[in-house]
Order: sequence, then structure tokens, then C-alpha cells
Amino acid sequence: MDFDLTDDERRFRDELRGWLDRNLPEAWRSRHPKEPWTDERRELARRWQAKLAEGRYVALDWPVAWGGRDATVAERILVNTELLRARAPRLIGHVGLDLVGPAIIEHGTDEQKRRHLEPIRTASELWCQGFSEPGAGSDLGGLRTRAVLDGDHWVVSGQKVWTSVAEVADWCFLLARTDVDAKKHAGISALLVDMKQPGIEVRPLRQMTGEAEFNEVFFDQVRVPRENVVGKPGDGWKIAMGILAHERGPMWAFMFHGYISEDLSNLVALAKRRGLDADPRLRERLARAWTDVEVMRLLGSRSLTAETRGEPIGPKTSLEKLFGSELSQRLRELTMDVLGAEGLLGMDDPRADWEGRWQRFWLFSRADTIMGGTSEIQRQVIAHQLLGLPR
Ligand SMILES: Cc1cc2nc3c(=O)[nH]c(=O)nc-3n(C[C@H](O)[C@H](O)[C@H](O)COP(=O)(O)OP(=O)(O)OC[C@H]3O[C@@H](n4cnc5c(N)ncnc54)[C@H](O)[C@@H]3O)c2cc1C
Repeated sequence: MDFDLTDDERRFRDELRGWLDRNLPEAWRSRHPKEPWTDERRELARRWQAKLAEGRYVALDWPVAWGGRDATVAERILVNTELLRARAPRLIGHVGLDLVGPAIIEHGTDEQKRRHLEPIRTASELWCQGFSEPGAGSDLGGLRTRAVLDGDHWVVSGQKVWTSVAEVADWCFLLARTDVDAKKHAGISALLVDMKQPGIEVRPLRQMTGEAEFNEVFFDQVRVPRENVVGKPGDGWKIAMGILAHERGPMWAFMFHGYISEDLSNLVALAKRRGLDADPRLRERLARAWTDVEVMRLLGSRSLTAETRGEPIGPKTSLEKLFGSELSQRLRELTMDVLGAEGLLGMDDPRADWEGRWQRFWLFSRADTIMGGTSEIQRQVIAHQLLGLPR
């Protein structure tokens, strides 16, 4: 592992720091990188992404011709780290930037590129990811939403679930079954679906935090132009797997490390404020947490090194996902122990410390071991693919 920045990377980072000083107003800086969305925060985040796009600090991995920089993974991690450090607003268009854009760039037609890439970059259009269904989450290949060709349109019917940001999304990157006779994975296609049309109903799902950040989405005879298929009909599985691989790897590991190291320093500050920092049991748990956060950083560095050398990372990303998401939950449990009975006060209670964010982050952390692949699935991958155990 090489932990030092190269001269070029240092120059790039210093340029970015200067740009952030000039372009990120103090009032836009957030109090936590994962603040819950409100209408006001969403609006600000859209403006912020448009500004980042002006400076070409989003979609960094995209080709220069489409507004990117052809950046290396190390440069992208640098940008994420600096944005976190500067307390920049959360990126609102990440589904488009990290999933849909790369899929269109790799598999899309020129017309799809011309139509969609720039609005994704500038957040003038937001996207959601329509993959999971009530009977198809871990076993995504079992999805049943149908798209049937009728003249020059696909007619889509079915239901998606847990669709984040569908309530505000302009477009959906949808996986649907276009061939029921083909083998399970071979019959799936990826469609670009305009969310603002008849036949689509978005029903919010209220989470235990009280917010509704994801939804059920119902499609009833929705007509999608034939040319909105990405790649060829039947390529959907291959494209989706490529997209999901984007969700992981060193980018994810460093981003997650950024969040949890922020949480740990907040927690240490809280323990000090409460005069609990001399408690030997708490000190031991905090030291363990610090070590684990450091391990997370090293896991990220390891996969960054592998990626930089062009080595496959493959199933090792499951180790990072499993370790990081369970660490996140342990940290939040520890926070609740430090708060004691006060942890019962939520964001709606004016007496709550830090406006109740502690409780909200603790509740939300239950999702960490579910989204992007559950812990059980990660353990299956590790057992089978890394340890060579039988299925
Ligand atoms: C916050 C959040 C945001 C999300 N956003 C989106 C989104 O925008 N778009 C989208 O498409 N999806 C989204 N998801 C859905 C997510 O991808 C699924 O929740 C996840 O893939 C698990 O699928 P499931 O919920 O259907 O659980 P299931 O697959 O039904 O699993 C239920 C339980 O069974 C266990 N299990 C299943 N199969 C096995 C097995 N083979 N071996 C051992 N145990 C097993 C699981 O670990 C789990 O505990 C989101 C989820 C969350 C929590």
C-alpha cells in the first residue's frame, strides 16, 4: 500500500481546496454529512451539484467529452474526502452520477448520452434505481415486473419496492422482465422510464426514523419508448451487475470511512462533554471503535491499491461491506449507551441534544446491514468465494 499522495494528486487537492473556499458559502455547510432530506436541503443540494458540475467536480470518472475528467479512483476519493472535510451538502444526484451515467456511457446509444448525461451531471434531473421488488431483493434475478413490446413501445406493469428518492425522481433506471421464456437472468432488460407519466404511482414507505426516504412504486401499463432500452433487450442483468459493482470497492469503503470517523469524533466529544471520558469501560470501547475505524480505512486503502494496480477486487468488497456496516451499528449502539435515557429523545423533541440527530442516526443504522446486500448475503459470498466453503 502506498499512503502518500503523488505530486499531481497533491496539486489537484490544493486546487480543489481553493475552489471550495471560493464556491462553498459558509451557510451551505452542513452539520452532518448524512443530514435527513428536507425540501429546503434538497433544493440547496441541487444548486450545490450544479455548482460542482460547473467546476467539473462531479462525474469525475466520466469521459471528458461528457463533462467528466476521466479521473482515477484515487482522485475521486480525494474529492469525496475533501467534500466531507469541507462539510459540503450531500450529493443529491448520486444514483444518476454513480449508477445510471456510467451504464449509459458504457452501453447507451449516442442519443441516450446526449439526452441524459448533462441533466444527470447538473442535477436538473434526478434518478431512482428501480431494482428491488417485494419478492426479489437478495435474489434480484427473480424480479417479475414485466415489459411487453407493443409496436414502438414497451408496456410496463409491476411493482418495485424500497425505491430511494422515487418521490422526487424525474427518471427511473428500471429492471424489467422482457422475455419470460429466456433463462432467469437472460430475460431481464434495463429501461429508462420517465417517472412523470400516467400509470406510475409512488407510495412513500415511512421508516422508523419517521421519515419516508424510500417508496413502493407501482407501474400499470406504463408506455416506454422502444429506444429507451439500454444495451440490447436481455442485457439488463449484465448491465445491473456492472452498476452494482460501482456501488462497492474503494470508493464505497472510503466514503463509509468518512462517515463513521465523523461519527466517532462526535461521539468522543459527547463523552467528554458528559464527563464520561474517565470511565475505563467506556474508554476501552471507544479505543476499540477507533481501532475498527482505522481498520476500515486500511481495508479501503487495500482495495484502492488493488484497483490502481488493475488487480480484481471481486468478492473482497463483501468483507468491507460486512465490516463497515456492522461497525456503524456498533458505533451507534455505543452512542446510545453514552446518552442513556436521553437517547429516547428524538428529532421532534426540543430537549434532545444535537436536535435529536443521535437517535435518528442510531435508528437509521439498522438499514446499513440491509441496503446494498444484507450481512447474510455478504457472509455467503465470503464463505463460498473467499474461503472456498461449500454452498
Ligand atoms: C435504506 C435502503 C435503501 C434502499 N434503496 C433501494 C433503491 O433505491 N432501489 C432498489 O432497488 N432497492 C433499494 N433497497 C433495497 C435493498 O437492495 C434490499 O433491501 C436488499 O437487497 C435486501 O433485499 P430484501 O429487502 O428483499 O430482503 P430479502 O432478500 O427478502 O431478505 C430477507 C432476509 O433473508 C435473508 N436472506 C435472503 N437470502 C438469503 C440467503 N441466500 N442466505 C441467507 N440469508 C438470506 C436476508 O439476509 C434477510 O435477512 C434499499 C434498501 C434500504 C434498506
